[in-house]
Amino acid sequence: MESDDCSVKVAVHIRPLIGDERLQGCKDCVTVVSGKPQVQIGSHSFTFDHVYGSTGSPSTEMYQECAAPLVDGLFQGYNATVLAYGQTGSGKTYTMGTGCGDNSSQTGIVPQVMNALFTKIETLKDHIEFQIHVSFIEIHKEEVQDLLDPSTSNKSDTKVAHVPGKPPIQIRESSNGVITLAGSTEVSVTTLKEMAACLDQGSVSRATGSTNMNNQSSRSHAIFTISVEQMRKINNNTDSSENGSLKEEYLCAKLHLVDLAGSERAKRTGSDGMRFKEGVHINKGLLALGNVISALGDEKKRKDGAHVPYRDSKLTRLLQDSLGGNSRTVMIACISPADINAEETLNTLKYANRAR
Ligand code: ADP
Ligand code: MG
Repeated sequence: MESDDCSVKVAVHIRPLIGDERLQGCKDCVTVVSGKPQVQIGSHSFTFDHVYGSTGSPSTEMYQECAAPLVDGLFQGYNATVLAYGQTGSGKTYTMGTGCGDNSSQTGIVPQVMNALFTKIETLKDHIEFQIHVSFIEIHKEEVQDLLDPSTSNKSDTKVAHVPGKPPIQIRESSNGVITLAGSTEVSVTTLKEMAACLDQGSVSRATGSTNMNNQSSRSHAIFTISVEQMRKINNNTDSSENGSLKEEYLCAKLHLVDLAGSERAKRTGSDGMRFKEGVHINKGLLALGNVISALGDEKKRKDGAHVPYRDSKLTRLLQDSLGGNSRTVMIACISPADINAEETLNTLKYANRAR
């Protein structure tokens, strides 16, 4: 976040070759240009805001450079979004730290955000009253599903888009442009432990909810949202009178932490009609996101108020008040270094490059 003149920052996270790839004898086909945030694959070269490889301590640096400024911004009232993009298996869930029981659970972005948030609240709570809420939803086939719904969390083998009789979750926009989710569970939390429990509950619900877990979780967008409300009493003591009036300042902002659906093409995911439909729907969100982010970049360049197509998908609609404008956005493009994934890796880098 060295400059504030671009609302979207793009980082690349390259995971190491994993067991399966080593067994297949895959070669590493991605090179990081030393000392630069630049990646090369074949004859292609791309420069981003940050590149994290398998050396050093990517998780600490990534948190400090990508997410910490957004957490600070929350306390100043700025909405923000962190998006993990990439093909299935590229490390999105690992990067975000939203998997259940994997060893990324402490080093991922979300656990580090939660830690930093409560550390900061601890230092401020004598002067400011905080109210923190979390929600955790999934967008699958253009339908919003509640991952924290207490009435479905224990019946994980029968997860449905919504409980019969319960109205489906709707995305609403208020007259001042604030986006809310009507009908989703918003949990009020006061401690790190409580927030972590919500993350765990939703992650478990996401992983076990469908009969074929890999299918659904790789085709859906998971969005963990932290909203921070602050009531600050300001001593408005400008005149010399002893009892200067107490003014109340109210600030509210939210941070969306998004583990996007796998970016691989629909054609690779099977040929039966049902799956293809899922692929088409998932692509709708990713396609719309790409268009929105690229329009935001153009808007900056041309300053002519270019049309930003937020309405083209549920994902972009939901993120509308936290992408562009005064809000801060970081996209982390996750890639596999393996040569067998070179085509998808190149697609991911091209997609991420559009955001700049
Ligand atoms: P995705 O969510 O994009 O489908 P995952 O996060 O599930 O991908 O990662 C796929 C596999 O690779 C998992 O076994 C995960 O533990 C491993 N992995 C991902 N990123 C890393 C990393 N940076 N270091 C070590 N292992 C990783
Ligand atoms: Mg995943």
